[in-house]
Amino acid sequence: MANFKTHVAVAVAASTAAAGFAADLKLITADQTVWLVLLGTIGGMLPDIDADNSKPIRLLFNVLAIICAITAAKAFYGRHESYWVLGVAAVAYLMVRYGVFGLFNRFTEHRGVFHSLLAAVFFGLLATCVSFYILHWTTVQAWLDGFFISLGFVVHLLLDELFSVDLSNKRMKKSFGTALKLCHYQNFTASALLLTATLALAMLAPSTVPVRQAMGFIHWTVVKSGQGWP
Ligand SMILES: [Zn+2]
Repeated sequence: MANFKTHVAVAVAASTAAAGFAADLKLITADQTVWLVLLGTIGGMLPDIDADNSKPIRLLFNVLAIICAITAAKAFYGRHESYWVLGVAAVAYLMVRYGVFGLFNRFTEHRGVFHSLLAAVFFGLLATCVSFYILHWTTVQAWLDGFFISLGFVVHLLLDELFSVDLSNKRMKKSFGTALKLCHYQNFTASALLLTATLALAMLAPSTVPVRQAMGFIHWTVVKSGQGWP
């Protein structure tokens, strides 16, 4: 298993490369690059969300709690008194930092259902839906947010699996096959619950058409049907 610093460094490198590519395609502006690299890095830490009560995990939950507090404040800003908005943000922070964190520690095992490709899709779709419905970002931006969370996530899984191959002895360590998996094969209930939540998010997620149009892949269908750009 790769250590925390390695995970962060590789996640930053992979998301910087991907963000550079997206900027090249004119999908994003230069200032969006920093935000997407941050999301990719968070994605790179997420799979170990179910590890023990270690420093990186507390840091990760702190970051997630701050993001949730900002999201909650943004959702209510301008519609209520400022002390009310601050209160909602504080409650959101405390709920994620202590409530959700406590539940995670209690009910998850390390390298369980959250250390899987299914979880990568789940967290990506979750980020897309939060960006679209709560932050009210454009469809393309929302999907990019989700993509970068998933990208960091998958890079983490690959790195863990890579570290389970002892290159000097050319043999597999005992942990081989536990890092990169579709779902948690031994825990059917947890996998089924996560699959249900993922499918629900997939149905809720915004249309992918604007993304494909932005990338120019289905330009011809737009021209043919005469629908124009959304
Ligand atoms: Zn891991």
